[in-house]
Amino acid sequence: MEYTNEKVKLMFEGGLEFTRTWLAADDQRAQRVLRNHKEERVNCLCTPFGVPMHIVCREGRYFLASNPGRASHHALSCPSYHPAEEASGLRHYSGEAICRASHHYKLAVRPEAPTGPPFDHFTPSAALQFLWELAGLNVCTPKTVARRSFLPLSRSLWRVTHKVLFNKRAIRAYVPLASREIDGCQHVIGQVSRIHRGKFAIGVNLAADREHTFWVDQKQWQNSPISKLLGTYEDPKLADTTWLMARLWLSPKGNFNLYHIGVLPVNDQLLPSYNGLKEPIDKLVENRRRFFVCQRYDAIDDDSVPLAVLIDRKEPQSLYYPLLS
Ligand SMILES: [Zn+2]
Repeated sequence: MEYTNEKVKLMFEGGLEFTRTWLAADDQRAQRVLRNHKEERVNCLCTPFGVPMHIVCREGRYFLASNPGRASHHALSCPSYHPAEEASGLRHYSGEAICRASHHYKLAVRPEAPTGPPFDHFTPSAALQFLWELAGLNVCTPKTVARRSFLPLSRSLWRVTHKVLFNKRAIRAYVPLASREIDGCQHVIGQVSRIHRGKFAIGVNLAADREHTFWVDQKQWQNSPISKLLGTYEDPKLADTTWLMARLWLSPKGNFNLYHIGVLPVNDQLLPSYNGLKEPIDKLVENRRRFFVCQRYDAIDDDSVPLAVLIDRKEPQSLYYPLLS
């Protein structure tokens, strides 16, 4: 479910065509080709209509660059794709909260809601949204939805946990079906399949995992957004499909305890669908649209973040809720 496709072709004005893989294979050759064609317009052929690009020179090296305002017009699978800033709550985080280092993202994650913006950290729920998006799980096309089952989704999520550091440390997540074992894991990510009141805590079971029960004590339950979705500590109830991500602590008695819990409600296609957004998102799926769901992260009040962006048009189109069409 990760969509990057390095084989997307680039076409130069003079008709020359090559892929990014070809370009990446030999740096000297790449620099020579880009230098020779630096005045030409380039078209990235990741969409049926193509996206215009150009070549820039920085400190003596040549690079491909999207034309201003067009980076979000590339296909989601294209290496040149960057989400439009206004389509995501991610823009509200400071460099302290998120930075990208070569092949990794580094996130600062803390349980309390950040003040701001700019936010200096992610809540666990927002961090889960980040993983979801990085794994391409907020994208819906009629084709991917048909194939979207639990196993590939779990594997995609587990794979992206290796590309992200939380508070400068590896995430080391247990994801049922995708992880081999739970030993040494510091996080759990999974779909809640059952909850029940135990004597001292609430027991949580995850889909595709018959082996473990995870325990959430009263304080953690009440201080976490899980209580907004799955009922009070006194009366927990399984509601809509909910994914959680939490820190895992194995007690000396051998109990798996959860704390710093983040949640993500999803629809039947496992697309993020927060309060009241399930219906319009289901409608888009039903109408076989290609789109991606936009996420607000911790900027929950930011109405300028669209519900979704349609990508089956010549140019991406943002949809706001309530839907106009
Ligand atoms: Zn492209």
